[in-house]
Amino acid sequence: MRNRAKCKKCGDIIESFHRYDYVYCKCKEIGISGGNDEYHVTANDFTHFLRVDDEGNELVVKVQDKVEIVQLASVFPENKHDRQELLGMLDEMRRKLEDLPIEALYSPISHADFASLLMLVSAIFKSETKENI
Ligand SMILES: [Zn+2]
Repeated sequence: MRNRAKCKKCGDIIESFHRYDYVYCKCKEIGISGGNDEYHVTANDFTHFLRVDDEGNELVVKVQDKVEIVQLASVFPENKHDRQELLGMLDEMRRKLEDLPIEALYSPISHADFASLLMLVSAIFKSETKENI
């Protein structure tokens, strides 16, 4: 299943395409990440969160636990991606930030956002070390 979700608040449908792809709806109420490898979700209020399946059906999700930050570590278990791939993800992350509307550009980031960036940067450095050995 594709990793898609819909925000009930703003109606935005978002999709995460790979592990490091962190996407949020227009109003920042909900977010998803993990691509097709892991289905991570975040929301200010999960009553605004709907899964969208491959047929376009909207599914109500059952929230088990809010352990999003702890689970972030499992997004980067080891270096499964080569350096070029990781750099591509970093560029994509940057492009997405640049495309944000001006008011979103000046809104604060969360520790989860910051942790995911650090993990990606760390993965890039580790992949570099691997190459040089
Ligand atoms: Zn929204």
